[in-house]
Amino acid sequence: MNEYIKSLKDQGKLNISIDKSKTFNWKYTKIAGPCSVEGPEIVDIAKNIKNLGANAFRAGAYKPCTYPVLKETNGWREGLQDKGLKLLQRVKDETGMPIVTEVMDASMIDKVGEVADVFQIGTRNFQNYTLLDALGKSNTPILLKRGTWGTIDEILGACERILVGGNENIAICLRGVVGMPNYRHVFPSIRWAPDLMMIPALKELTNIPIIYDPSHSTGYRNFVPPISKAALAAGADGLIIECHPTPDKSISDPAQAINYETLKSIFK
Ligand code: PEP
Ligand code: MN
Repeated sequence: MNEYIKSLKDQGKLNISIDKSKTFNWKYTKIAGPCSVEGPEIVDIAKNIKNLGANAFRAGAYKPCTYPVLKETNGWREGLQDKGLKLLQRVKDETGMPIVTEVMDASMIDKVGEVADVFQIGTRNFQNYTLLDALGKSNTPILLKRGTWGTIDEILGACERILVGGNENIAICLRGVVGMPNYRHVFPSIRWAPDLMMIPALKELTNIPIIYDPSHSTGYRNFVPPISKAALAAGADGLIIECHPTPDKSISDPAQAINYETLKSIFK
């Protein structure tokens, strides 16, 4: 083990031993939903996804997109935003499923927190210290997505930042990292390299739950089932998967979205 991390661990300076009794139930977490809320049909989609075995529903109302204007369509621009949040409230009322959704900025914590049961922190905000410090003061469980560049120190440091603030309800989401250039000429939607080895690495250092995201880490729907299995075999506590009734028509992240049938086969 890296001497630096080992010394922090030995001295008890990495406050990363979390009391699972206080947490959202991360063990065997099956989180699924479309990348983003696209319209009122989200309520029926959530009902279907619940029937396929998901125990939490994830869809983004506020979406930080790589190109902010490119996908603008029918009122959707970087998500449906406030309208999307209202629709997620309807999902919650009608399905009873816990809602996982992204909060992009500290100023949005109260508003998103009225609906979210779990705050997703997107990869782009993995080291947004103002946001992480504010999340430490919140009581809402946190799903912290690893930055595509995040080293092991940066992952542990980001967790520590939330934990020392007093919020112990956190999980790390591994979602792929930089470094897959040799695949792109054959599989153009691949953007990231799966970061499976980080699962046992983090398990050796901490008991923070690890949720694996086979959708963003592969970028290609045919690779979602095998990488889901691999993540569970490597020790992940749960999965977060993008699923859409008509995957190719998804406004955001179409190539990685799986259909209902595939989701059912993964969650069975
Ligand atoms: C997402 O979950 O849809 C998303 C934007 O993920 P990430 O922050 O990992 O890119
Ligand atoms: Mn997505």
